[in-house]
Parts: sequence; C-alpha cells; structure tokens
Amino acid sequence: DQTDVLLAARGLSLSYGTVPAVSQLDLEVRAGEVVALMGANGAGKSTTLMGLAGLLGPAEGHVELMGEPTTEPLHRRARRGVRYVSEERSVIRSLSTLDNLRLGPGPVDDALSLFPELEALLDRPAGLLSGGEQQIVTLARALAGDVRVLLADELSLGLAPLIVQRLLGAARDAAAQRGVGVLLVEQHAHLALKHADRAYVLHRGQIVLSGPADELSDRLDEIEASYLHGA
Ligand code: ATP
Repeated sequence: DQTDVLLAARGLSLSYGTVPAVSQLDLEVRAGEVVALMGANGAGKSTTLMGLAGLLGPAEGHVELMGEPTTEPLHRRARRGVRYVSEERSVIRSLSTLDNLRLGPGPVDDALSLFPELEALLDRPAGLLSGGEQQIVTLARALAGDVRVLLADELSLGLAPLIVQRLLGAARDAAAQRGVGVLLVEQHAHLALKHADRAYVLHRGQIVLSGPADELSDRLDEIEASYLHGA
C-alpha cells in the first residue's frame, strides 16, 4: 500500500564528486516494517543510507519522505522523524550517559523506557561505557520521541551477540509496536534476514535482488556466493 511508504528512493544515484557510488536505486520503507539492505564491502550500503538521511544529495533521481520529494538536509529530515545512526559510535565520550541522551531529539524518559538498563549508567562518562553500551545509548537516542523512520548503519559492528540481539530486537519492536519504518544495513546476512520483513541486495552500487526476508533466507547460500562474499 503506497500510503504506508514513509521513505523511498526513486531512481536515486549518488556520487562522490564525479565517482558514482550507487545508481538508479528504487527502494521503499513502509510504516511498521524492518527492511534489510545487504551487500558486500563497498557495495554502496552506507552511501545509500547517507542519501536517504540527507547527508548526500542526489546525482540523479530523488528521495521521497511521506510521499513528497525532499531535498532537505539531515537536520530538517530529523525534525520530521527520520533518525540516522551512522557506523561510527556517536556518543560524546567526556559527557555523561544522561547528557548524551539529552543531546538527542526526543525526551530522555522515552529513551530510558525503551532501554531501562541505561538507568544504572546515567552518571557515567560515555567514554567509560563498553562499545555495546555506547551503541545502546546511540540507539536509545535515535528511537526516543516522535520517530517515523530509523536508518541504522551496522548497529552490530564488532559487538557481542547478546548486545546485537538487544539492538536488533529494539529496532524490531519499534517497527512492530510503534509503526516505525526501519532500514538496517547489516554485514551479517543471516542476522539481517532474521530480523527483517523484506530485504534488498546491493551489488556494485545497484539493487540486484529484493523480496521477503524468508524467501531470501531460503536462497542465502546462493546469494552469499553471488553477491555478498567479495565484490
Ligand atoms: P562497507 O560495508 O565497506 O561500509 P558499503 O556497502 O557501505 O561498504 P559504501 O561505503 O557506501 O559501501 O561505498 C560505496 C562506494 O563508494 C565504494 O566504492 C567506496 O569506495 C566509495 N566511497 C565511499 N565513501 C567515499 C568517499 N567519502 N569518497 C569517495 N568514495 C567513497
């Protein structure tokens, strides 16, 4: 149903200077669904998220937010409920966990009700948190308040399995319980598909495959061999 589409790429091409990174992407994120964006290193996953978030302007095509073409930069899209979590941990290490949460666009209480485990860490400088805890702070901040779309780049990078479950589970819950549209970039294909409803496979800057997560799961060996292992 088109009325559910929160964020979409329509013939979207993105370049770094004159170097094309992704070309002619068509993808959609609907309310209440988790969508995985998969692909080998350098396939263009991060670039795609940056284009959708408003960090990188289109070379061709456009991004649609709630059905309307948008050229707004990141901070304006953020005000309309688009939250972007980059690959880099984005806590400020010298500030406490609480102050890091206060820097987010949504209320701290909301972040804490989503991640009660942060209560015990509120006074601690974020630089002294574990990598997983830092990522929980980042995600708590992103999911607090009036969020419509979550664009999450490699939430699980370098983290222990339990934390990964927690992060991806929270993204799943945001979709299922609050109707958030989630687009996840994830290196681990099986994990991505386990938590997703649908998925797109990027290969050398183009979408080569898309479909329901369970269907792609059934073909994962073949997909990995063709598209995910090496470029
Ligand atoms: P990874 O899993 O390694 O992060 P990715 O699928 O996210 O890979 P991108 O980081 O989006 O891929 O990169 C897509 C292409 O754009 C690659 O060829 C990459 O070298 C190139 N690229 C990425 N960032 C830049 C940049 N800042 N300047 C120039 N080229 C870039």
